[in-house]
Amino acid sequence: MRCPFCAAEETKVIDSRLAADGYQIRRRRECTICKERFTTFESAELLVPYIVKSNGNREPFDASKLKMSLAKALEKRPVSADDLEKAVNQIIIQLQATGEREVPSKLVGNLAMDALKRLDKVAYIRFASVYLSFGDIEEFIKEIEKLRE
Ligand SMILES: [Zn+2]
Repeated sequence: MRCPFCAAEETKVIDSRLAADGYQIRRRRECTICKERFTTFESAELLVPYIVKSNGNREPFDASKLKMSLAKALEKRPVSADDLEKAVNQIIIQLQATGEREVPSKLVGNLAMDALKRLDKVAYIRFASVYLSFGDIEEFIKEIEKLRE
C-alpha cells in the first residue's frame, strides 16, 4: 500500500502480529523511499450492507423489520420463535457474506423466500404472494407448481 507520508507506492511489512484477541492483524510497515513507519490494522469486514430499494432509495438494513415480515407470514404456523430467530440471523450472515456495501432489496426478499420455503410452505406462499405481487393468478399457480416438484 501507499506510504501516507510521501505517497510512494511501495512499503514493506516489518512486523505482523495479532491484535484485539486475535480478531485483527496489526502490521508495522516501513516506506521504502522515505523510511517513515506506520501501522495498519486488518479485520474482517462484517458490515450488513445498505439496502437499495427498487425506487433507488438506500436505507440501512433493518433486522426487526425483516423479522416482522417473516413473523407475519408465519402467523399461526408451527414454527418456533427460535427457528424464526435463526432464519433472520442466517439471512443477516448471507447479506454480510456478499461483502457488498449495498445490495438490492430484491436480494433480501429472495433470501427471505428461501428461508420460508425451508421453514414452512404455507408461510412461503403467503410471503411470496405479497412480495412478488403476482400480476395474475397464472403466475401464482406457477409458483405453487414449482413447490410441488
Ligand atoms: Zn514514504
